[in-house]
Amino acid sequence: MTVQIDLHTHSTASDGTQPPAAVVQSARGDGLDVLALTDHDTTSGWAEATEAALRHGVSLVRGIEISCQRDGTSVHLLGYLTDPDDPVLSAELDRARQSRVTRLERMVELMVADGIPITYAEVLAQVPAGATKGRPHIADALVHNGSVANRDEAFTKWLGNDSPYYVSHYAPDPVRAVQLVVGAGGVAVHAHPFTSTRGRTIPDALIEEMAAAGLAGVEVDHRDHDDEARYRGRALASRLGLFVTGSSDYHGTGKANRLGENTTAPAVLEQIVEQSAGVTPIVRA
Ligand code: AMP
Ligand code: FE
Ligand code: FE
Ligand code: ZN
Repeated sequence: MTVQIDLHTHSTASDGTQPPAAVVQSARGDGLDVLALTDHDTTSGWAEATEAALRHGVSLVRGIEISCQRDGTSVHLLGYLTDPDDPVLSAELDRARQSRVTRLERMVELMVADGIPITYAEVLAQVPAGATKGRPHIADALVHNGSVANRDEAFTKWLGNDSPYYVSHYAPDPVRAVQLVVGAGGVAVHAHPFTSTRGRTIPDALIEEMAAAGLAGVEVDHRDHDDEARYRGRALASRLGLFVTGSSDYHGTGKANRLGENTTAPAVLEQIVEQSAGVTPIVRA
């Protein structure tokens, strides 16, 4: 059987529901050989995931998922094997995480003003220590106080990008984010490019700009992409000389996505490792 490789997962270092070590253990249990931990705007889960990878015999690609924004549209960029001490990239991630705090407070204020039963203290109680704060933590507070059944219902009712309570946070331009990842010795992959937000998707021209800035790959096999989006993604990648990845975007019980539901070819992982100069992959014994 081919090596099972899942290059996009989240832990309690951001908005996943399992601690990094538990994500690694689940990966082992689900028969994965290689896992990338890619929490939103942070590398704080790397140390625990590394220790667990060595213990459970799973290979680990240390990664991040950077929230970016262009003309009000959200773009997610995966960065693999970046140097976590790169001063420029870490300063940018610090700034984004800081801005996420005020943004979450403002969203809760708007919801409270509209009579939605929620307090900021309830939200903070749902944020694991040190986690990148995000809308899923508001959703968890709403689940906890019985207002909704799950995160998905909270997003549908109140937290979506087109909601009146939506507030944006500081996020770098996607082209700059590609440069930051490459500058930190990492490999940049455009996460789920055809996820639609407010009915809009990313124009090919933006991916071309990102490719010119050093983008290496496109995450094509992802549950947000139907067959047409996957066809378009493969055609675009082939035209621009980018490789194609597939991943689960696992968030524990926070989303329906299951580990290994989409996977990446071993030859693509080899390219990622070859092109990186930040940190090395953790290779299982
Ligand atoms: P934020 O980064 O704070 O803007 O929140 C965006 C995050 O919310 C994404 O990374 C997703 O993991 C999560 N999310 C978006 N839509 C949903 C949904 N319908 N159900 C569960 N989680 C969601
Ligand atoms: Fe997420
Ligand atoms: Fe994403
Ligand atoms: Zn993700």
